[in-house]
Amino acid sequence: MRGRARLIRKASDAVRDSAPVLHWMRREFRCSDNPGLLFARELAASGKAPLGVVICLPETKELPGLRQLRFLLDGLPPLETRLRELGIPLFLRIGPPADELGKLLRETGAGTLTTDFDPLRPAQNHVQRLCSLTDAAIWEVDSRNIVPCWLASDKKEYMARTIRPKIHRRLPEFLLEPPRLLPAPKPWPGPVPHTDWARALTHAATAYPAPPVNWILPADRNTLPGEDEAQRRLRDFCTHRLHGYALNRNDPVKDASSRLSPWLHFGFLSSLRAALAVIDHPADWPDARDDKDALLEELIVRRELSDNFCLYEPGYDSLDACANWARATLDKHRDDRRAFLYDRDALEQGRTHQPLWNAAQRQLVDTGFLHGYMRMYWAKKILEWSASPEEALATVIALNDRWSLDGMDSNGYAGAAWSVCGVHDRGWAERPVYGTIRYMNSNGARRKFDATEYVRCHAGPEQAEQFAVRR
Ligand code: FAD
Repeated sequence: MRGRARLIRKASDAVRDSAPVLHWMRREFRCSDNPGLLFARELAASGKAPLGVVICLPETKELPGLRQLRFLLDGLPPLETRLRELGIPLFLRIGPPADELGKLLRETGAGTLTTDFDPLRPAQNHVQRLCSLTDAAIWEVDSRNIVPCWLASDKKEYMARTIRPKIHRRLPEFLLEPPRLLPAPKPWPGPVPHTDWARALTHAATAYPAPPVNWILPADRNTLPGEDEAQRRLRDFCTHRLHGYALNRNDPVKDASSRLSPWLHFGFLSSLRAALAVIDHPADWPDARDDKDALLEELIVRRELSDNFCLYEPGYDSLDACANWARATLDKHRDDRRAFLYDRDALEQGRTHQPLWNAAQRQLVDTGFLHGYMRMYWAKKILEWSASPEEALATVIALNDRWSLDGMDSNGYAGAAWSVCGVHDRGWAERPVYGTIRYMNSNGARRKFDATEYVRCHAGPEQAEQFAVRR
């Protein structure tokens, strides 16, 4: 696993090899197929040291929404049980991560901390601050990308076409069956913590006094978290929806995509496991190769391009991310008259003149998920109907992060930047407001799929009727 790890801070001379190793889970919440945890176990084995895991819930202002937090927290008790069976205690901390981690390292005498690579700003800031608070060695392990992000490329890639060959070249080194996690090499020396999940849930709830009812998602198959559910969904996708994926994945009514993103986002599932399952799935239909290639392109190339974008573009959530051509065209058209102008509240409540857009917003709020094609359409219209591109980008990010179960993800920041800032795209025909940023409209949606049926499903028959008659 060393090939996926990089040393962020060397241990001070005083640190003993046999001091406990702690693995800080902050992006990849799973026991199996977890390179960070496997690497921590390797370090513990080489120093004949005990191994523990820590999860830290940050302060209120950094928490995702309540629906996302519930999804995460409900998936953790089975993880704790699995770790305990391997002699690995789980410490749950609540508070500013660097301070909490610094304290825990001192209390336990741990000499090494391993943690998940995460290019997003809050995560990078926590690690930087922690470096100044501890004597322990700190390692970052890329457990999200199949090819570790910093090895795939050392610069911000222009588009999928430029990163694809770099990733494909290194896949033979990294697209390999990971080993099983073995028990901790040595028992934990001090008292083993008893996690107070009720307190964690209370913390989550008090962070959001009087949340609107729809912040909590109804309990159904699509809101069951955890590793077991992730594996079940992966099997279900391979058995029932991999066949036809290439042809149908862009049809929001057929809903033929994998719908794995919330489980991938929280790391209940590794993309490596998903890729291996797809590759190994016995497929006897004529276009099986196309279906598998299409899924692997999204799961590996597109997904890993997003982490590349967030790692090498400090302004990943602002107009600073624009290429020169995109910035120039947005500036040229910033004073264009908008045929419709909506503020964030009107958009959030799905109160626009357009039933197709309202249906997308409803799907997002009611289910915590928005189909990939509709995410693009939804964000493009926010650009068209906002007072400025800055306001549009901020609204896309705010609504996506608040309502999507998979929000606050590098995929989301890259998707928002693609839609509003032309990132990973090229210039198209010039038109008002958009300039040469790619345009999308409801006629395009009608040509691609049964858009009226989509409106009926998510916004009801009245809106569907309006949509059907208005062209
Ligand atoms: P599938 O088509 O089954 O693809 C499998 C996996 O590949 C996905 O789960 C995802 O991890 C990855 N993937 C697919 N499409 C993309 C893509 N375009 N870019 C990067 N990775 C991709 N994705 C998120 O995970 N979280 C977000 O918050 C998010 N917000 C988005 C916002 C906008 C405005 C846009 C345009 C895209 C956003 N995406 C986001 C990317 C993409 O739309 C979703 O990953 C995808 O729709 C998830 O559905 P699925 O799991 O059925 O995907």
